[in-house]
Amino acid sequence: MQKNFHEALQDPIFRTLTKAAKELDVTCYVIGGFVRDYILKRGTAKDIDVVVVGSGIQLAQKVASLLPNKPKVSIFKNFGTAMLKNDDIELEFVGARKESYHRDSRKPVVENGTLEDDQNRRDFTINALALSLNEADFGDLLDPFDGVSDLERKIIKTPLEPSITYSDDPLRMMRAIRFATQLGFQIDLPSLQAVTKNKERIKIISKERLVDELHKILASDKPSLGFSLLHKTELLPYILPELVALQGIEEIEGQRHKDNFWHTLEVVDNICETTDNLWLRWAALLHDIGKAPTKKFHEKLGWTFHGHEFVGSKMVYKLFKRLRMPLNDKMKFVQKMVLMSSRPIVLSEDYATDSAVRRLVFDAGDHVDDLMTLCEADITTKNPKKQKKYKNNFKVVRQKIQEVEERDHVRNFQPPVSGEEIMKTFNLKPSKEIGIIKEAIKEAILEGEIPNEHEAAKALMIKKGKELGLNLA
Ligand code: ATP
Ligand code: MG
Repeated sequence: MQKNFHEALQDPIFRTLTKAAKELDVTCYVIGGFVRDYILKRGTAKDIDVVVVGSGIQLAQKVASLLPNKPKVSIFKNFGTAMLKNDDIELEFVGARKESYHRDSRKPVVENGTLEDDQNRRDFTINALALSLNEADFGDLLDPFDGVSDLERKIIKTPLEPSITYSDDPLRMMRAIRFATQLGFQIDLPSLQAVTKNKERIKIISKERLVDELHKILASDKPSLGFSLLHKTELLPYILPELVALQGIEEIEGQRHKDNFWHTLEVVDNICETTDNLWLRWAALLHDIGKAPTKKFHEKLGWTFHGHEFVGSKMVYKLFKRLRMPLNDKMKFVQKMVLMSSRPIVLSEDYATDSAVRRLVFDAGDHVDDLMTLCEADITTKNPKKQKKYKNNFKVVRQKIQEVEERDHVRNFQPPVSGEEIMKTFNLKPSKEIGIIKEAIKEAILEGEIPNEHEAAKALMIKKGKELGLNLA
């Protein structure tokens, strides 16, 4: 195995680090993600973690002073760390440390330590790899836990006893699952067992940290890997109980419904093939959550989930709130996708009339493409004939959406007759008649009774006004 990786350290910044360390008479190393990703050939990361046997803050300041554009150093005194940005590279400096933990917090007691002490406190063997930046052995790999073999074997494993590692800092449980998902690695069995054993400790992790990891799982190519690990380790009930509630198949009178948890994971994987939009991926994850509370067995109809889209969209708000996620337009977008998630399906099952398509476009607005993407991902039937049929039906709906949109422009509907014009025409003050007329015009357009044009709308306005007993001004 290769022992020196100086070719990974070609950027001139590394020589500056060497020079700064020499001037301060300390040693320093690149550690963690940068080394891991280089060996995995995932490209050279722009986030570089540097560990210093000495003061991270002093080294950062020295490096900044040697760089031509003298970047600003951000200092985090409480953590003894410092950060600076040089062009597109972000350097994070930390002094090598030894850590010990208390049970009720993930904040360790910290002492200065050696490089080995620092490697011991790292979460995984593959994240403890370090490259020397010191003149004498520049580029040498320091790999005390044989992390390189774990990279080759695709294994996530802790440097020290797993149960202690996870209990000390339960965020590492999420990180293990996240790295397994991002890299397509297996979690070492003792590690997996230790995560399950310590699952309850996840409670001390802040929601923001949890969500960060969930985002990373969802942003990966195959999020189902992560969610099935969260399920297997029994962490999921602490994080997304709404998904756990979807798991299982019930049978009454010989009728079964599908397992909506595993179905959901398939939908998420499907949608990742067509979109990188994180929030659309969230929508895929949550599109069926209303099915657990609305599930009923009906003698004639079998299993029903009546109104699950509406219930689900309400649950989205509560879930975002509980996880301290933003309650902004992103949340509203996810709600809207969940609420509308069955609409195109209904259309695709039957002959889609123009007016039904127009209503879909009207209600979904700019998100109609995203909604179609979600519904296409929702096709998880294993029957190739049905699969083909549904896909084709959606293709037809997409075509109709385009046709109707080109003709009727209802995507971001602007009433062709304004309230002002109605008031002028009938010499009205603001009143409920205006709303009635506007609604009638909108309905007529959506139904296809009149085109979305001013002349036709004006004629209808006059007709409606007369029906309401209004006189022309
Ligand atoms: P990426 O940035 O691609 O997510 P990374 O490995 O760089 O991956 P960071 O979160 O940036 O991950 O952390 C940098 C390094 O710090 C890790 O490689 C690891 O060595 C160490 N580290 C981070 N978080 C922890 C933790 N909770 N426990 C132990 N070590 C950690
Ligand atoms: Mg990093």
